[in-house]
Parts: sequence; structure tokens; C-alpha cells
Amino acid sequence: MAEILNGKEVAAKLRKRIAAECEELKKTGIQPGLAVILVGNNPASQVYVRNKKRGCEEVGFYSESYELPEDTTEKELLELIDRLNHDDKIHGILTQLPLPGHLSDKTVIDAISPEKDVDAFSERNVGKIMIGDHDFLPCTPAGIMAILKEYGISCDGKKCVVIGRSNIVGKPMAMLMLHDNGTVTVCHSHTKNLKEITRDADIIVVAIGKADFLTGDMIKEGAVVIDVGMNRRGDGKLTGDVDFASCEPKCSYITPVPGGVGPMTITMLLQNTLTSAKKHAEKQ
Ligand code: NAP
Repeated sequence: MAEILNGKEVAAKLRKRIAAECEELKKTGIQPGLAVILVGNNPASQVYVRNKKRGCEEVGFYSESYELPEDTTEKELLELIDRLNHDDKIHGILTQLPLPGHLSDKTVIDAISPEKDVDAFSERNVGKIMIGDHDFLPCTPAGIMAILKEYGISCDGKKCVVIGRSNIVGKPMAMLMLHDNGTVTVCHSHTKNLKEITRDADIIVVAIGKADFLTGDMIKEGAVVIDVGMNRRGDGKLTGDVDFASCEPKCSYITPVPGGVGPMTITMLLQNTLTSAKKHAEKQ
């Protein structure tokens, strides 16, 4: 039987600490502030924006959210970002992805000041993560590393396998495990003999967006399994990329969905906003 990696509990503990640090910072006249921009009316994105706002309220941050129409031009969006870049009340800015097709994710992300890019998606912040000299870490991989740390699981000397190579999860996840001295293999849709690779892994992170993809026959006894997937079943229930029922009996540790990686992502966004506000305070 595996020990459940309870992301909800770890997130609650971290949020308490963030709230306490926010209180301290407020005494110096600075309240951490986050601006979230949503373009269009993607229902899933609307939920994420609402949750980010709620997260800010929970820890005592100031927040602004902008819900812009689908036909917002790049010029209008860049003007808003420029204004927020120069707004002292705002320490973190993010645009909810995906943006509508007529807007370039890259242009918009790179317009956010690197000091306020709390998603850590901009070219400069991605480069800094690569060389291990970061200000912010991307929220989902950082949340996973925080869960591992909380449970005393180190990547040092371990065979780590990341399934998925997206810029926001898979690639930075691999980099963080490498920085933690893991021997990392990154798998994707062109990977041959995936099962042979996963069966040899000590720690597996699955981030592909396919329900119940990783099954018990694909892992070895004692593996640590981290499920990033968030998939909706036909009945509306949330489910991960891991077939929990067949994997759990073989694992040493496993994250559930919901209640595993998910609650950590917004928590790390709050952490990044706090870090940015503290840096701002130091400059004053
Ligand atoms: P993505 O951009 O769609 O990338 C999916 C990756 O999975 C790609 O690299 C793809 O390979 C790979 N892949 C797809 N099918 C595969 C297969 N059969 N075998 C091996 N690799 C395969 O997804 P993402 O944004 O990284 O998100 C992945 C999942 O995590 C989604 O369910 C998403 O909702 C969830 N997510 C959760 C959180 C959270 O807070 N819990 C945060 C972010 C994302 P190719 O590159 O070869 O196409």
C-alpha cells in the first residue's frame, strides 16, 4: 500500500506561511499584489482565474482581474500589460493561457516584465531556470518539488522519468529533477518502448492529459508516482493521467487526483508573487 502524497495538506501549510509573511510585509507598507488577465470566455480559464483571486484573498494579497473580450487586439493587451508593469501595487502579472488564436502567446508573455512574470514562462525566466539561477519557478513543477521535499523524497541518484514535454510542465519538471541530482529521462508521444522505461523508474511524473494512461504493469514495486493530469470524465468527474487503482498497490508514494498536484499550483503562484513583492521591498 502506498502512502498518499497529500497536496491539499502541503498547500494549506504553505499558504499559512505565505499569509504570515504577507502580514509581516504589510507592516513595511507593501501588500503583495497579483494581476490576472483573461482574454475570451473559456469556461475552464474562468474557473482558474476565480480560484487565483480566491487564493489571493485567503493569504491577504491584493488582486486585480481583467476579463477582456475575445476580440481584444494585441495592441490593447500589450498596453494593459505595460501599465501593470509600471504599477507599484502589482508584483505579479499573468495572462491565462491559451490565448485566442489571433494573439501570440510568446509576444504577450515576453511583454510581462521578467520581475513580475510569476508564471516564469518568459524567455528570460526559462533561461534562468535552465542555468539554476532562478527568481521564480514555474508553478506546477515547483509544486511537485515542494510535495517531494515535504515527504522527504529526494531525486538524488534516482532514475526519474517525466512523461510529457510541454513548456509549462514536462520540460521544467525535468530540469528541476536534474537540479536535484536525479538521472532524468523525458518521454513523449514519439517515445518507443515507454513501458520498459517507466518500469525502471524510481520516480515517475505523468503530465500528458490522457485519463488512466499509466497503469500498474508499467511501474516497478516501490515507485513514486506523481499525477499531473486533469481530465474530465463523461460524468464530469476529475481524473488524472494515472490509473490509481492498479498503480497504488505497487507504489511507495502516489498523488491522488483531486487533492495532489492541483492544489499546489496556485500556492506556488502565491509564493512567486510574495517573492516578487519582497524583492520590490528590498529595492525601496
Ligand atoms: P500538453 O501541452 O498537451 O502536452 C502533453 C504532452 O504529453 C506532450 O509533450 C505530448 O507529447 C505528451 N503525450 C501525449 N500523448 C502521449 C503518449 N501517448 N505517450 C507519451 N507522451 C504523450 O499538456 P500540459 O499542458 O503539459 O498538461 C498535461 C496535463 O497536465 C493535462 O491534463 C493538464 O490539464 C494537466 N495540468 C495540470 C496542472 C495542475 O495544476 N494539476 C497544471 C498544468 C497542466 P508530444 O510533445 O510528442 O506531443
